[in-house]
Amino acid sequence: MADVIVRRKICRLCRCEVLDLALTLLPSALADEFLLTSQHNLEQAKYPLDLYLCRKCGFSQLLDVVTGNTIYLNYTHETISATGLGTHFIKYSRDVAAALSFPPSTLMIDIGSHDNDGSLLRGFKDAGYRVLGLGIDPAREMSRNATEAGIETRPEFFTSELGRKIAGAHGRPKVITANNIYANIDDLEGITVAIRELMADDGVFVFESFYALDWIKNKVFDFMYHEHLSYFSVKPLKVFFDRLGMDLFDVWPVATKGGSMRYFVQKKSGKRTSQPSVNLAIENEDNFGLFTLKTFTTFAAQIEKLKNEALTFMNPLVASGKKIAGFGASATTTTLMHHFELEKNISFIVDDFKVKQNTLSPGHKIPVFSPDVIYQENPDYIFIFAWRYVHPIIAKHKRYLEQGGKFIVPLPEFKVIDKSNFGET
Ligand SMILES: [Zn+2]
Repeated sequence: MADVIVRRKICRLCRCEVLDLALTLLPSALADEFLLTSQHNLEQAKYPLDLYLCRKCGFSQLLDVVTGNTIYLNYTHETISATGLGTHFIKYSRDVAAALSFPPSTLMIDIGSHDNDGSLLRGFKDAGYRVLGLGIDPAREMSRNATEAGIETRPEFFTSELGRKIAGAHGRPKVITANNIYANIDDLEGITVAIRELMADDGVFVFESFYALDWIKNKVFDFMYHEHLSYFSVKPLKVFFDRLGMDLFDVWPVATKGGSMRYFVQKKSGKRTSQPSVNLAIENEDNFGLFTLKTFTTFAAQIEKLKNEALTFMNPLVASGKKIAGFGASATTTTLMHHFELEKNISFIVDDFKVKQNTLSPGHKIPVFSPDVIYQENPDYIFIFAWRYVHPIIAKHKRYLEQGGKFIVPLPEFKVIDKSNFGET
């Protein structure tokens, strides 16, 4: 577990050296490092969680890059299928195939295909494309699984050199995709140049990532953790791709991850027409104040207010002997737990995903169980860490409400739900 922290000195997109601290969350353990119970003695360091705004291009980003072998290890097939993301990626492939209208047997490549369990490639394959997945190093096992499932997947990290090998063996792809993984890459310039070099001249690079404007507007602040280095928006990306000889010609808003954006990029020599969506999004970002420090100060104040509301409610309960459980053990839980300083208030966490059950939460080592434990332990309250899924969670656990249990919902507004007000939410 030898993680190393490297401090980046320049903007990841435009190389500017003037970066202003825009938002500070309390230092946190690595968000995905849920431990096996047998690892309870392992030390888990906390790392700073500071977001910087580039004064030149307005890009928001983490500069502290934690590298090591641990950060990508907890991704699971189970999570993808159970959260409906598999369906999302199948639809993604259909929509993109229809929009780009390349002929059948066109080659497409997905970088970080383990990230979506190969769902995107399967969709493109069904649409008649030739497909190739590129994993990243720690995901070797998953790459092998996908290959065994009939989709060729190479586990190497994507570089220009690998790109040349691929072009030699398979030809130049007309579609290259990279999704949530793109926000996790420190050397964006390196990978993007490699993509440009590999892509066919009329090819399109498509990627989808959570969207900085929605991230603030929808208060999804718990999406900020060390793995997420980039908080993308259209304006800084437009300038970035232009500098690298590419053209961001279309953007589509998508609902996943609390609000995401799908970006379409071609080489500058490409023939596709620039869509009004790009300038419209940039105008929207400027009007929102996405590139000003003031917007982040306001965001920080909103987060602080919600934290105080939660602690003011929970601290006296715990002091008087009430028991509070948590619902949801994902990476966002780690940020919420650390930044809201909830560790003394949460007795245990439950999660639907088997892979998370019987683990310990990162940093605080709070035990995670199956939701069945709710009905054995009968906690007085359940704090919903997975607050974006509050409706399906409560609908599934009406029995707990009917037995007198109460849910604490921390975001986007603090509220407590019991059987008397359930249904008003
Ligand atoms: Zn910049």
